Amino acid sequence: MIKCRFAPSPTGHMHVGGVRTALFNWLFAKSQGGKMVLRIEDTDTERSTRESEEQIINSLRWCGLNWDEGPDIGGPHGPYRQSERTEQGIYNDIAERLIKSGHAYYAIYKADDPKTVVSTSAERPQQKKGYTYTIKFKVPDNSDIIFKDLLKGEMKFSSDAFDDFVIVKSNGFPTYNFAVVVDDHMMEINHVLRGEDHLSNTPKQIMIYEALGWEPPKFMHIPLILGHDRSPLSKRHGHTSVDHFRREGYLSKALMNYLALLGWSVDQEIFDYTEKLKDFSPASISNKAVIFDYEKLEWINGKHLRMLDINELVSQFELWLRYTGKTDIMESFVENTGYTKEVLKICREKINTLAQLYDFSMPFFTEEPEYDAMYVSKYLAKEWSLELLSEAMRKFEDNPDWSVEGVEKLVRELAELKITSKKNTFQTLRGAVTGRLVTPGLFETIAVLGKDRTLERLEITLQ
Ligand code: GLU
Repeated sequence: MIKCRFAPSPTGHMHVGGVRTALFNWLFAKSQGGKMVLRIEDTDTERSTRESEEQIINSLRWCGLNWDEGPDIGGPHGPYRQSERTEQGIYNDIAERLIKSGHAYYAIYKADDPKTVVSTSAERPQQKKGYTYTIKFKVPDNSDIIFKDLLKGEMKFSSDAFDDFVIVKSNGFPTYNFAVVVDDHMMEINHVLRGEDHLSNTPKQIMIYEALGWEPPKFMHIPLILGHDRSPLSKRHGHTSVDHFRREGYLSKALMNYLALLGWSVDQEIFDYTEKLKDFSPASISNKAVIFDYEKLEWINGKHLRMLDINELVSQFELWLRYTGKTDIMESFVENTGYTKEVLKICREKINTLAQLYDFSMPFFTEEPEYDAMYVSKYLAKEWSLELLSEAMRKFEDNPDWSVEGVEKLVRELAELKITSKKNTFQTLRGAVTGRLVTPGLFETIAVLGKDRTLERLEITLQ
């Protein structure tokens, strides 16, 4: 059975690059009927935090990338936090095995000079004041390390390119290269898909596997996501955290769709990743550099928002309002579902994110519109506006037909009166009922607002 893992280090937020790696592992495992493990790589005691771990877990869950074993749900190969595994002595036992077999040794340093090894030993050194020690892996002389990367083909390194390296630090914690081998082996991981930045670590890991007589997993190193200047995507290029995109009102399905496109050559541009599992195979991953395109992501999000069943859009929007604490429109939003659906239906045509939807639909949910200063100076303050709006009021009061067509007919009649230009007529009316100059289509807007709201709002402008 295929078994993959996500192995985030909880030293910050969940980066979109990390979640793309997680997604590819998930797609691979799930498309083969395999399993996923979540392992928290918190051996960097200074930088790892529980808050970051929680945020990462939240983000992964929000993305819909579930796992079969992990720190929050347990499993047969726990614990799933490297700090807890350290406490249990798991890494130390294996390190001692390596020392016994001659593949590792204690390296002793002066405490004030952790760079210069003063002596080495196969026996655990006595604690001596002013001295400290690590455990180092003994890199074999002059041997080739060969592995077949699932994306890049055969990779060959010479052991001579590597110095002996630390596997257990002086604080007793394992280093990444050591812990990852012990854990991947014990957790029965057989496929490791990860960023290309780890490629230079892989030979070190393979040497450890060989020294322990363990079979290494299959590796696939995926090109990193780059920014526009072709350097690895970072804060310099813009936001990179999954939580940022969640707060901005991206749908997780859209984010996953976009991230999947960054490296997966798939025959479709817009899709639901959970429904494309059958098309996924390592052979469909590309080795080309990929550039993060914020505009394309936004465009894809808009497509997903417009594709959603309207009830699903209402519930996604509600979840988002709660998540971001934008509960000001909540009451009107939930109490009036029929109206809410109509509003969201016309508003979603012109927006790409839930944050834009929130802003764009605001005039429909507030009691009184907030009148834009530009609207007031350009239209409402003009001498013809009083006559135009009074005429509109009279017509709307008597209007029996609040369908889009009915409203359109009436607005066109109003323009025919030539109180002002056609454009002025439309914009004055638009602003009167919403406070804004940019809204969904004018006829749809008035039809959805309905008679009571429209008349109330016209009245405000006539006061
Ligand atoms: N904890 C490592 C990282 O976050 C994972 C590396 C790996 O997948 O082996 O980069």
